[in-house]
Amino acid sequence: MIIKPRYKGIICTTAHPVGCHMDVKQQIEHIRAGGTIDHGPGRVLVIGASGGYGLASRVATAFGSGAATVGVFLERPSFRDRTASAGWYRAVSFDKCAQRAGLYAKSLNGDAYATDVKELAIETIKSDLGQVDMVIYSLASPVRVMPGTGQVVRSTLKPIGQSFSGYTIDIRTGVLRSISAEPASAREIRDTVAVMGGEDWQLWIEALLAADVLADGCITTNYTYLGSEVTWPIYHHGTIGKAMQDLDRAATELGRLLATIGGTAAVIVLKGLLTGASSAIPGMPLYLSLLFRVMQQKGIHEGCIEQIERLFRTRLFGEGAGKREHEGQIRMDDLEMRPDVQEYIKHHWSKVDNDNLSDLADLESYRMAFLNLHGFGFDGVDYTADVEPVLPNTFLEMTSAVVQPENLYAKTE
Ligand code: NAD
Repeated sequence: MIIKPRYKGIICTTAHPVGCHMDVKQQIEHIRAGGTIDHGPGRVLVIGASGGYGLASRVATAFGSGAATVGVFLERPSFRDRTASAGWYRAVSFDKCAQRAGLYAKSLNGDAYATDVKELAIETIKSDLGQVDMVIYSLASPVRVMPGTGQVVRSTLKPIGQSFSGYTIDIRTGVLRSISAEPASAREIRDTVAVMGGEDWQLWIEALLAADVLADGCITTNYTYLGSEVTWPIYHHGTIGKAMQDLDRAATELGRLLATIGGTAAVIVLKGLLTGASSAIPGMPLYLSLLFRVMQQKGIHEGCIEQIERLFRTRLFGEGAGKREHEGQIRMDDLEMRPDVQEYIKHHWSKVDNDNLSDLADLESYRMAFLNLHGFGFDGVDYTADVEPVLPNTFLEMTSAVVQPENLYAKTE
């Protein structure tokens, strides 16, 4: 099958297995080129391990500090003439690369919110690794089936208290499109916190601790975003911002809990990047393409793997280990927040229009990042070649979960 990008609205519905493999290989090469991550963890559980920051974290711990990794994610396999999701291909590729490098890697494809997936992860850790030294929670999901009740709760990306209007970029035409969103209801706020807030992170850590699979000194991390004031009406002050603030509450409670084994919990503020999750956030495409332009001009642009590598080498396990900023968070968005970078964005945010868009914003880099997300646009991949979309499934599956990948993506496709 010759696989090309196919679109439904703002969603790309196809993924290229060879391109996804190329992406994983490049991330591994990047980490290897930087040498060993000193004092890195030996056994790691990554929840949300198949894309974006979670995959980069898995690559960094496995190939930087030789860690045995268990990865949890929810991805869609190929079906008839449909390709698998990009995360599915990336996870297959990671497992293959880890195996070739002699590293332990086991992957669980299932709903991380479900109790039986937590139990399967615990069983796997117990029987294969004994315990883990680090738990990375990097989930980004639009929906959660509540444990116990089975109620399906959805997150929304809306402002709070006032309506929002702004622009987004049509990825195919490169044209600005106006968008607006009405204020969220109290229920939508509550539901977004239930899906994207800290509760499930807490449930994971409580279950792992009760099963005695967290090693003494275990560290757990969760990733958050703060971003620029220009996006605050829809992001930081919106429903998703409320969910992100809930992570700080959860980190404090988890810190107390983990103190019993000398462990710690940290919320880490990362920079804005184009990932499966962020591509759906209103206003983010315009913000990110302005950000790409200014950070690239200044030579300080970082992708997922560069951000995560810097986090692991300098803040989690390097000389800066243990140092925290405001309210216990670790800030890795320092370059994005640099006054000269933010000045550029604030200055151009309200001036940008279809005539000057390609001068002020880096549309090409944004478009390429979007293609790369789905395994397209990589040098060295022959996109005219016939490729096999069905790859052998190497994952442990938990199919009893109510939310199947098909349902998860149904809303967006
Ligand atoms: P992503 O979309 O690239 O990855 C999300 C991961 O979650 C995937 O592995 C996916 O399979 C998994 N997942 C989703 N629903 C699941 C479910 N029900 N069960 C199991 N796995 C599931 O997202 P990302 O952008 O890397 O986001 C990860 C974290 O980083 C989030 O907490 C996000 O808020 C944070 N963050 C993102 C950005 C950004 O700009 N992208 C910036 C700062 C912080």
